[in-house]
Amino acid sequence: MNEDELVARIRRMAEPGARRRLVLGIGDDCAIYRPRAGEELVFTTDLFIEDVHYRLKNEQAGVLGRRALARSLSDIAAMGATPRFCLVSLALSKRTDHKWAEAFYRGLLALARESGTALAGGDFSHAARVVCDVMVCGSVARGKALRRDGARVGDAIYVSGPLGGWRHRAEIVPRLDIGRRIASKATAAMDISDGLSTDLWRLCIASGVAASLDGPLPVLAGATLDDALNGGEDYELLYTAPQKVRVPGMRIGSIVEGRAGDVFLMGLKVKARGYDHLSSSRR
Ligand SMILES: [Mg+2]
Repeated sequence: MNEDELVARIRRMAEPGARRRLVLGIGDDCAIYRPRAGEELVFTTDLFIEDVHYRLKNEQAGVLGRRALARSLSDIAAMGATPRFCLVSLALSKRTDHKWAEAFYRGLLALARESGTALAGGDFSHAARVVCDVMVCGSVARGKALRRDGARVGDAIYVSGPLGGWRHRAEIVPRLDIGRRIASKATAAMDISDGLSTDLWRLCIASGVAASLDGPLPVLAGATLDDALNGGEDYELLYTAPQKVRVPGMRIGSIVEGRAGDVFLMGLKVKARGYDHLSSSRR
């Protein structure tokens, strides 16, 4: 099978969702998406690389395809946005053939359909290891996107579910529903991709505030407090809202006055020890 045949197959798999959303989908030089009046577009892109994010021999292609899209959809959820379309680029290796690629896309497209995300295009190439990049565009009512920089002293801090990191989580479930429900209520939001200790620090730095966590934190079955703070790849949402505003999720603490970025758990300073790609690549 050559590249054009593979593209034709993927295009047939993608068509039902794409027709609903796009003016023009796969098959031309660019896709066309026409934004509606009053909506603002949000964009995110995530790399998903063999031996960095997963081991090829441990995973099924379809599971990886689904996960590749889920990671980017989590960012869309964190903005309180609704996904509209995605662009997926995939470099295959010697150990992955067109059958593997088709299964990868089948997994990805199942989640695309569930979440209303059209596959608008992408690119194929080859490399020593499998490399995938998923770019997603979402939309949100003008001025309503949830950013990281809006947390204020006195706000309560929430997570959308218990934490524990990738070792204790079978699947990434992008919290699109919660993102939309908190869209007009939360003061700041982000998704937890690198661990609560690092991501809450980031939110606090962006907002110029400090955070105080109450114990005990909601922890997944079998996970430790260290997994919940530093494990990474939870893909739950982390958000803040004024105390009086009712939002879904689990309350874990409060925004407090203090040095920007300081995070305390039951009075003790928490170090940001989540995942850092740059320090990991220097090891
Ligand atoms: Mg994120």
